[in-house]
Amino acid sequence: MQEEPSLRTAGEGVVFLVDSYFQNSELVERLPVCYSDVLIFVDSSHEPTTDAVDDYLAKALAGTAGQRDSVVGIGGGSTLDTAKAVSNLISNGGKAEDYQGWNLVQKPGVFKLGVPTLSGTGAEASRTCVMMNHAKNLKLGMNSDYTVFDRLILDAELTATVPRDQYFFTGLDTYIHCIESLNGSFRHAVADAYSREALNLCHDVFSAEDMMALDKREMLMVASFLGGSAIGNSFVGVVHPLSAGLSMVLGVHHCEANCLVMNVMDDFYPAEAATFRRMVEKQNISLRTGLCRGLSDDQYEALFNASIIHEKPLENALGPNFRNVLTRERVQELFVRM
Ligand code: NAD
Ligand code: ZN
Repeated sequence: MQEEPSLRTAGEGVVFLVDSYFQNSELVERLPVCYSDVLIFVDSSHEPTTDAVDDYLAKALAGTAGQRDSVVGIGGGSTLDTAKAVSNLISNGGKAEDYQGWNLVQKPGVFKLGVPTLSGTGAEASRTCVMMNHAKNLKLGMNSDYTVFDRLILDAELTATVPRDQYFFTGLDTYIHCIESLNGSFRHAVADAYSREALNLCHDVFSAEDMMALDKREMLMVASFLGGSAIGNSFVGVVHPLSAGLSMVLGVHHCEANCLVMNVMDDFYPAEAATFRRMVEKQNISLRTGLCRGLSDDQYEALFNASIIHEKPLENALGPNFRNVLTRERVQELFVRM
């Protein structure tokens, strides 16, 4: 009789990158970590930086001859992005910042498996991994076909423990990506279809009595996947550039920052801003206010610069003369109202 082939062959081992929330959890106990593998916990209290990714790469390769067979990422957008970046770096060498941009990754990363535990960013489906580079004042990913997971496990059981506010903010990232994309001028029929269905699911989830019931968590997981699939063929609009400003200058996390910006978007997305506020109210979410009041001129200047640098989405939303609409004064006025 022939022996069953082993699922795991001897090799350079698997790198498990797991959100540190799951340290000491039953989930981690169930992971099939073998002697040649390495289990690394990812600190998601700060969103990924190029330096942090380089550190995780060093940990992933410690004690090896510079190779690993595969990478498994288990967590929210921060952990999934870290896993995608580490996989690419194992094959391509160098540092994370070398690949911030478009199509700079030269060859496929090692096999990567993604297991989202928080729904909304679409990082499980997209072709980028967002990283902040503080030295260059730049928030940019490795945009590449190689930054796509080879396999995913989507299991809505894993999102049961997400705090309600976090669940809302991250879930709203899908809503915001899709409304920005559908209101833009650079369009793609496939992205439009994904976006429309993702929006239907978001409306269902965030108008429900219990947005975190299992069936709603399943819907949001699918919406996130569809939204992430749409991103590759579409562009965001006004919200994401201003949100990036908040993240770069004041350290506000991506998904909360999006919601703070969405709350002042009546001139740009009137119907969607009203829908957004209905969802906030229905789910009894409290948004921070006054974050940008009384900042120094230098800080307002930095907020403006970190926002207006995102030309492509701004052009998508407002046309090539977006600078005439989003003047320094108008942008400051929007930030002050947040
Ligand atoms: P996150 O990964 O930063 O995690 C937020 C918090 O949720 C953390 O404290 C984490 O420990 C906790 N958490 C995660 N899963 C949990 C669970 N099941 N139970 C309890 N707590 C849990 O959050 P996020 O909003 O998913 O990701 C944000 C990041 O995603 C940002 O860095 C952003 O730039 C990036 N992003 C990437 C893409 C992409 O296409 N690659 C798109 C949008 C955003
Ligand atoms: Zn986003």
